[in-house]
Amino acid sequence: MSFILHGIGVSEGIAIGRAQLVSHATLEVAHYTVPADDVVSEVERLTQAIRAVQKELESLHGAMTSGDAPAEFGAFLDVHWMILTDPTLSEIPKRMIAEQHCNAEWALTQQMGVLVEQFDAIEDPYLRERRADVVQVVERVLKVLLGKPSGVRPAHAEEQTILVAHDLSPADVIQFKSHHFAAFLTDLGGVTSHTAIVARSLNVPAVVATHNARTLIRDNELLIVDGAKNVVIVSPDRSVLAEYRLKQGEFELERKKLKRLRTTRPTTLDGLEIELFANIELPEDIEQALENGATGVGLFRSEFLFLNRQGLPSEDEQFEVYRRVATGMEGHPVTIRTFDLGADKHKEGLDGLSRVAPNPALGLRAVRFCLAEPRLFLTQLRAILRASHYGDINILVPMLVSAAEIDQTLAMITRAKNTLHEQGVPFDAGIKVGGMIEIPAAVLAIGAFTRRLDFLSIGTNDLIQYTLAVDRADDAVSHLYDPLHPAVLRLISMAITTANKANVPIAVCGEMAGELRLTRLLLGMGLRHFSMHPAHLLTIKQRVLTSEVAMTRPLVAGCSRATIPTNFPRCWKSSTVDFAGRGGKLPLRRFDDQLAGARDSGIGVTE
Ligand code: PEP
Ligand code: MG
Repeated sequence: MSFILHGIGVSEGIAIGRAQLVSHATLEVAHYTVPADDVVSEVERLTQAIRAVQKELESLHGAMTSGDAPAEFGAFLDVHWMILTDPTLSEIPKRMIAEQHCNAEWALTQQMGVLVEQFDAIEDPYLRERRADVVQVVERVLKVLLGKPSGVRPAHAEEQTILVAHDLSPADVIQFKSHHFAAFLTDLGGVTSHTAIVARSLNVPAVVATHNARTLIRDNELLIVDGAKNVVIVSPDRSVLAEYRLKQGEFELERKKLKRLRTTRPTTLDGLEIELFANIELPEDIEQALENGATGVGLFRSEFLFLNRQGLPSEDEQFEVYRRVATGMEGHPVTIRTFDLGADKHKEGLDGLSRVAPNPALGLRAVRFCLAEPRLFLTQLRAILRASHYGDINILVPMLVSAAEIDQTLAMITRAKNTLHEQGVPFDAGIKVGGMIEIPAAVLAIGAFTRRLDFLSIGTNDLIQYTLAVDRADDAVSHLYDPLHPAVLRLISMAITTANKANVPIAVCGEMAGELRLTRLLLGMGLRHFSMHPAHLLTIKQRVLTSEVAMTRPLVAGCSRATIPTNFPRCWKSSTVDFAGRGGKLPLRRFDDQLAGARDSGIGVTE
């Protein structure tokens, strides 16, 4: 029987293939007593399994540095290596075997349970997420103990195979490259999970957070994975299959055609020049940005330099990174956002952030934190200014809310400039300073921004969070996170109109900038600068090339009148009803219906 599973599509594309279930080793663990005489060899069995996984991780690391795997892989493997070699995981289970005479698998999973509970109790969402890494490491060791070291059988290029797993570690995903898997699905994960990050950089269609895929899907069952529509169709009937084969062909053709647009200037049919810039997190991302035709970096999330590392980066270290990005972008502008630490991007060991804030998203985050830590802020500002001598660099300040805060920030920049000037260090004295519009108050009092700053950039991810009072990192309220809410649209429209009137350049750098269905709406609102994940650049460029701004204006008027009862497909979280047969759940409403609703209200625009 055919049925559909909904999840979160983290990597676009369509794949059609047969399911290969990845064993969920932690569910297969038996408990038995080991005879006293065998305890020593049972401990040794665990030691050998841990050693084998250590070797596996090391060889993956080696293969990675010689290959073309994304740079984050190294960091993921390091985290797994550290977890594996930590005595809480490598030694305590051995003691349990010796004392309780239990089998190695059981001791390991018991200890995993203890660690997972400890991680669950951590307030900080980033650290809490590391619980998944502990489980993935234990799964790897269990597979060796249970005699299934590689976890997956290699797929043949000619037979499309789709991996279905409860969860996958980034190390597992690395192996996809050589195995030619067509796509993958997982029960767990979110848009920001490691697996999702890896999937996006590998360009493999993927749907995560399907909740029940691993239990509902059977080995070798025919599947369609549609990463763009967040769905998995299990055992499709012939007509659906035929339709998807057609779609798949069109998608591949479209991808190839899009590549040809790399150097085309994004100009609308009525001759308006649009800027399409890239958002990056690490210097390595500029390669993908240039490949997809970015003519600048509109948002360099510099705080990623702080995460996944011991200690703080020095001024020189930061300077080198910023200079690398500026020169790597071959003269195109690079907008470096000052650290947006705090909330979900929590860094342990920094004063002020190490305390547990009652409401981290409303607390000492972003520029608030930087102003509270002037030394750290000055170090970064000096590093950015020094790099500005080597390229076209702008400074972007996140989460500003008031005139006083802008003035304090500008004073800090002047101070950093003065210290460099006194030391005779060259920098771009006319460097442009911009502010992010992420808080409704900033839109409502935007005059304070346009009068003081050189440019603005709307961070729609946070603007939505703060307008609708919906924590963007909390899965329980993700159905309320709605970029099409009239209040959100009105705020965005207001910000663009006011900035344009004041002749202050304004961009959108939140996820909405890369959302195809919103391009014409944003153009109609007067937006001319978009910054987005590099993977979306060419699709958005194509939409720009086929848009006539004059025709989109009535849509804006229509949309300010509309009441749109929709949630954004990207953060779709279904209400479910029991689904017959397999004890699973089926969503009540398809997001296609929702989009149709949006289209009817004038937002989707004709395709
Ligand atoms: C935003 O809030 O829209 C944004 C671009 O910043 P971040 O997602 O890093 O908070
Ligand atoms: Mg933000």
